[in-house]
Amino acid sequence: MTNRTAFITGASRGIGRACALALSEAGARVALAARNTTQLEELAAEIRSKGREAFAVTVDMANAESIHEALAKTAKEFGPVAILVNNAGITKDGLALRMKKDDWDSVLATNLTGAFLASQQVLQHMMRERWGRIINISSVVGEMGNPGQANYVASKAGLIGLTKALAQEMGSRNITVNAVAPGFVETDMTQKLSQELKDNLVGHIALKRIGQPEDVAAAVCFLASEEARYITGHVLNVNGGLYM
Ligand code: NAP
Repeated sequence: MTNRTAFITGASRGIGRACALALSEAGARVALAARNTTQLEELAAEIRSKGREAFAVTVDMANAESIHEALAKTAKEFGPVAILVNNAGITKDGLALRMKKDDWDSVLATNLTGAFLASQQVLQHMMRERWGRIINISSVVGEMGNPGQANYVASKAGLIGLTKALAQEMGSRNITVNAVAPGFVETDMTQKLSQELKDNLVGHIALKRIGQPEDVAAAVCFLASEEARYITGHVLNVNGGLYM
């Protein structure tokens, strides 16, 4: 993927950060997108210190205008996006019966609508180039369901549907669209879970350990590679055997 431009949302920490480092290592120019500019600038500096190209760009994935501006700035700096990783995601958990509409709306806006809008925008160029990779970061709970996360689960299941629909629409243009469904990964998102819950979860994971962001990044990097050219509409589980 040398000299291709990759745009990674939620690149400031966790899984997105690991994806940016892995894609950069594989030769891509990386546009690092999130709301927190300080963390993005630090990562961009780290990548540049290794002699690779990186660009920090602020984006709020819950805001259509912000997505449009971030992708336009990236195109100006690095050329159009060839690899899009829709990774930005949030949780606002609560039982469905008591869930506030705002908590439903903001999770769907960031996790699903933002991914759709970013895909729509990058597809224009990918269609002209007859080459493109879109990788949506879903979740094991998008496949299994999870109590207390109706909004998050709906957004992650929605990403799987979006992946399959786009894969069918775009296949004839040599654009692949896939999803990665991580299981339980050690990041800020999962830090708030109690030790008891984590121990219980590990008991259900075949590989008997929690995942690391790099485990997910390796799968993303593969799907972005030339070697993955005949894979589209696929959901790649990276969950240590938590769900099969
Ligand atoms: P994380 O550590 O909480 O990081 C989330 C990232 O998303 C941050 O970079 C954050 O940056 C960004 N983000 C959040 N809201 C945003 C917005 N409105 N606009 C732009 N960027 C936004 O989470 P993570 O664990 O790495 O998760 C990454 C993805 O993997 C998510 O989609 C998550 O649902 C999925 N996932 C995670 C796990 C897990 O166990 N950790 C499992 C399955 C799936 P700013 O706050 O700076 O904007």
